[in-house]
Amino acid sequence: MTDQQLEQQGILEDAGNDGEHSDGSRDRATAVAEAAVSPMRVIERGVYRGPHLYSLTPMIRIKLDLGSLEEWPSNRLPHLTERLLALLPGLHQHGCCYNEPGGFVQRLEEGTWLGHVAEHVAIELQSLAGTPVTRGKTRSVTGEPGVYNVMYAYREQEVGLMAGRLALRLVDSLLPPNFRACGDSTGSTGMRTNLPCRPPSICRLP
Ligand SMILES: [Zn+2]
Repeated sequence: MTDQQLEQQGILEDAGNDGEHSDGSRDRATAVAEAAVSPMRVIERGVYRGPHLYSLTPMIRIKLDLGSLEEWPSNRLPHLTERLLALLPGLHQHGCCYNEPGGFVQRLEEGTWLGHVAEHVAIELQSLAGTPVTRGKTRSVTGEPGVYNVMYAYREQEVGLMAGRLALRLVDSLLPPNFRACGDSTGSTGMRTNLPCRPPSICRLP
């Protein structure tokens, strides 16, 4: 489902506009706390070492099921954007579809989906690791609501794969507790994505 389709369904407009409070913050917090959420999970992963269906650029693809997080774009998730930018200030430079610095931040504030967020985080982590890349794309999978192909370029395959794992865990860690796939430091909920865990791990394998 595209941003535009969700906009047409009023999902974006719902954010901050669902209660009697002037900024909607209390109602939104209540909605978040009470939400019954199935966490995101990885369906499959692939490495394209040459030109492929989606691009001429070698890319890593993560097929990601957002579960009920499909209904929770970035602008509905409390503090997600500010916490993400505090951790990775380099994201301010990502142009995204606007092709100029600040473009991705604008998408976060307008409301974009977590697969797209993970894509940008994987790109940024690779830059921080000294293997800079810029290209990425995230597309919904036709006929599979809530499922996305998250794709991003890489220079070193192992760095790219690790960046993808860390990106998903980082995004997951910024979610409200009842939305997370990974357990907290107590490991109470366990790891529900099927990307391999590598130490140091913040979560347990299933
Ligand atoms: Zn983007």
